[in-house]
Amino acid sequence: MKLILLGAPGAGKGTLAAYLIDKMGVPSVSTGNILREAIKNKTALGLSAKQYMDAGQLVPDEVVIGMLRERIAQDDCKGGFILDGFPRTIPQAEALDTIAEIDCALSLEVPDEVIEARMTGRRVCLKCGATYHIVANPPKADGVCDKCGDGLHTRSDDKPDVVADRLATYHAQTEPLKGYYGAQGKLKSIDGTQGIEKTQGFAAAALGL
Ligand SMILES: [Zn+2]
Repeated sequence: MKLILLGAPGAGKGTLAAYLIDKMGVPSVSTGNILREAIKNKTALGLSAKQYMDAGQLVPDEVVIGMLRERIAQDDCKGGFILDGFPRTIPQAEALDTIAEIDCALSLEVPDEVIEARMTGRRVCLKCGATYHIVANPPKADGVCDKCGDGLHTRSDDKPDVVADRLATYHAQTEPLKGYYGAQGKLKSIDGTQGIEKTQGFAAAALGL
C-alpha cells in the first residue's frame, strides 16, 4: 500500500507512522531524509538542491519530486511505502500523482486546541534531555528535572505563537489536500484525540490491516 499521512504538526503522525511501518512492513519515505542523503552523496539532484538551500531558497518541487522518484524505485518500496512530510501543498500532490499511484491518504484529526495544549505544555531539560508535559507527564517539582535537578525549558518550536503559526500554515496550505484526495475517493479520516493505542486501532481498522 502506498500511503500518505496527513495531519497538523503535533497531531501524532510520527508515532502513528512508526506503528504502521511495523504493522505494514513497508518503509517510511521522508523527503527530508532523502534531501539530506542526496546532498551528502553529491548526486545531480542533491547538488541542485544544495544550490537553492545555500541561496536561502526553498528547494523547488520538481527537484524534490525527482529525488522521490529515484527513492521509490528502490527495491524496499516495491510493496509500498508511507510518505512522511510530503506532499504539503496541492501542487506537490499533483506532481506526486505523475510518479506514483497513491492508494490512501490517512488524515489524523486533532483539533487545534488539543494540539496547542499538547505542544505548549511540553518541557525539556537541556542538561540531560528528559522531557515532560505539565499535564500528561509533570515533573515532581514545578519546573525542575526529576532526573538531574536542572531547570526545565520550553523549546522555541513549542512556544504558543510558533505553534499557532505552524497550525495556520497547515490549515492554509496542507489541509486542502483532504479535499484533493477526497475527490479521488482516497481519503480516510481517523480521530487522533483518544490516546496512542486507540489511534493505532482506528488506523488499522481504516486501512483494513
Ligand atoms: Zn535533567
